[in-house]
Amino acid sequence: MSSFFNNPKALLFGIDDILMTDDNNRKNGSSMDSNSMELCINSSKKEQLDILRNSFLNCNKCELYKTRKNIVFGSGNPETRLMFIGEGPGAEEDNQGLPFVGRSGQLLTKMINAMGLNRDEVYIANIVKCRPPSNRDPLFEEAQACIGYLRSQIQIINPEIIVCLGSISLNFLLQPDGKTKLAISKLRGTWQDFYGYKVLPTFHPAYLLRNPSKKADAWKDLQLVMKELGLEQPK
Ligand code: SF4
Repeated sequence: MSSFFNNPKALLFGIDDILMTDDNNRKNGSSMDSNSMELCINSSKKEQLDILRNSFLNCNKCELYKTRKNIVFGSGNPETRLMFIGEGPGAEEDNQGLPFVGRSGQLLTKMINAMGLNRDEVYIANIVKCRPPSNRDPLFEEAQACIGYLRSQIQIINPEIIVCLGSISLNFLLQPDGKTKLAISKLRGTWQDFYGYKVLPTFHPAYLLRNPSKKADAWKDLQLVMKELGLEQPK
């Protein structure tokens, strides 16, 4: 059975990302006891994700906990080969507790469908799990506080390809220390490496809604992903 503990890439992150047993995390609403750890070792990816989700239901590691309605953990197929990562929940996502269900989400669904897939065949998550007020960008310290949960999701799912949606996702995933600003306009459509995971940055659907002329570039990026996954290209 595939599990976090059988994923060689997991060693690169450090096991604390998923176990979260230290005192700080307990104080901040995140915990995983030894029974959960034991279960985690022997459980399916879905069960591991459920354990992870339950470990931070009351998380208050950053200020975003004060204004959230729901933690938006992520959704999709834990056994997928393809993961999409956005920046954070918006108002509709906060209301429903699901990622990418607003206007941007509708466009993302169309993009996924255009690849010959549906949302149940991929996994969608965000850098931060709680909505930044007024849909502002997540702050550095908020992303730093939350990124461990995303890393744990990646480690459990172990996708072949990660698509970063937009600059925030690209920068906080690949440059979590914030030392270098990566330009989505330069890196989109180019393969990046994240501890052995293939990462392809492309434009965020919200940006594409504001700049429809860029949809053709995003489609070229997705076609690279399709080719890498061996999916049939549209005629
Ligand atoms: S954004 Fe992440 S770290 Fe901050 S309170 Fe929400 S779950 Fe916790």
